Amino acid sequence: MTRHNEIDCDVLVVGAGPAGLSAASELRALGVVRVLVLEREAQAGGVPRHCHHTGFGLRDLHRLLSGPSYADELVRRALASGVQILTATTVTSLEKNGQAHATNSSGVHDITSRAVLLASGARERPRSARLVAGDRPPGVFTTGQLQQWVYGKGLPVGTRALVIGAEHVSFSAMMTLRHAHVKPVALVTDLEEHQSVAPFAFAARRFFGVPVWTSTRVVAINGQQRVREVVLEDVRTGAHRVEAVDVVVFSGDWIPDYELARRLGVELDAGTLGPASDDGGRTSVASFYAAGNLLHPVETADVAALRAREVARALVKDLANDSTSSSHDQIAVRVEAPLSWAWPNRFDPLSPVSRVALRAKTFSGSRLLVARQDGREIGRERVGRIVPNRSLSVAGAFLAVADPGRGPVTLSLG
Ligand SMILES: Cc1cc2nc3c(=O)[nH]c(=O)nc-3n(C[C@H](O)[C@H](O)[C@H](O)COP(=O)(O)OP(=O)(O)OC[C@H]3O[C@@H](n4cnc5c(N)ncnc54)[C@H](O)[C@@H]3O)c2cc1C
Repeated sequence: MTRHNEIDCDVLVVGAGPAGLSAASELRALGVVRVLVLEREAQAGGVPRHCHHTGFGLRDLHRLLSGPSYADELVRRALASGVQILTATTVTSLEKNGQAHATNSSGVHDITSRAVLLASGARERPRSARLVAGDRPPGVFTTGQLQQWVYGKGLPVGTRALVIGAEHVSFSAMMTLRHAHVKPVALVTDLEEHQSVAPFAFAARRFFGVPVWTSTRVVAINGQQRVREVVLEDVRTGAHRVEAVDVVVFSGDWIPDYELARRLGVELDAGTLGPASDDGGRTSVASFYAAGNLLHPVETADVAALRAREVARALVKDLANDSTSSSHDQIAVRVEAPLSWAWPNRFDPLSPVSRVALRAKTFSGSRLLVARQDGREIGRERVGRIVPNRSLSVAGAFLAVADPGRGPVTLSLG
């Protein structure tokens, strides 16, 4: 018979990535006594554990670290602050009364807490979800899978690769391929430009001979025992060409790890696909909070960590007021194309929103962001250059004049 263990804590954190660990440390610093973090992987630290390049920790730890060093430092700080971390433990379900259920090698754990903070992160959409035709041979990865394969297991990958995508993480995939002695042939994007920073694209071409093939999409992967070739299409002319490679890495195109939240009945935002929430991470279910890339995929680890600390502060405030409130009765924020999402996507007009993060599907120069409620303009802000797959941040003061009785606020580009 399966053994059931009862655990009682003040706040349960699901996921020991940068967001979960940083929020947990902040909760302890603010006086929450029993903070328990559950992590399904054998080691705490989240995605950065597998990213062996540098580029982590600048904004939150004020140091530039490799992914594993950054993860180690966050774990060290959490443990030093008195957070309890249980690894190799998967949270399998949540209940609206605050109960959580988790499993590990010692059995099933039934956890009772005053509040639950979901920080389960995001993953890249795999090939199967991208509707790419052709065969199903080995040699197809996401960046996350590639990094676990290379850095986690030290397994051979192949010889020549195409990286599908040209955002920040795609350049990380390129570096991992080089580390594994695989020739990255090119980064491929269906958009008209890469979506990372100019120095990355410059360095890729100049120092590693890796170009970005723009306005190009992958339409088929062929091969039986192994990937043999990829069929590419020029999205402007429709012309096809074939590239002989034995590895394909699908990068970016993120989807939040929302299963636990969805099954609990938490409302998901149509844009981010993560839990709809205010800037305190309050979801539509009272006493359930969310933080990190689960909320809006994806930001850099330090941004996820810093915002998670803000969620921890909101949670502590609610606990002190004995009101683990929800975003249920707040004003919703919706977006119109080419905007793809806004966060926070719920807000209470009585508490000021300091910043709003936005994403768009297309490139654009500086534009006016217009906020309307019930057809009436309530505010406008100028936003800088818009790059798909990268967040824009605007001051949230324009939301303060919204009227709780007039329905959602819609943001569009003028
Ligand atoms: C290839 C790659 C390169 C990157 N490079 C950089 C970079 O150079 N600099 C930078 O700042 N950022 C980088 N990032 C982004 C950074 O890794 C993320 O922003 C950061 O990890 C987000 O933290 P998180 O805590 O929200 O999620 P995650 O790091 O994904 O952590 C979520 C954790 O939750 C756990 N979990 C999920 N579900 C459950 C469950 N049911 N039960 C228990 N545990 C669960 C997961 O196992 C995971 O450990 C990179 C990301 C990738 C993929």
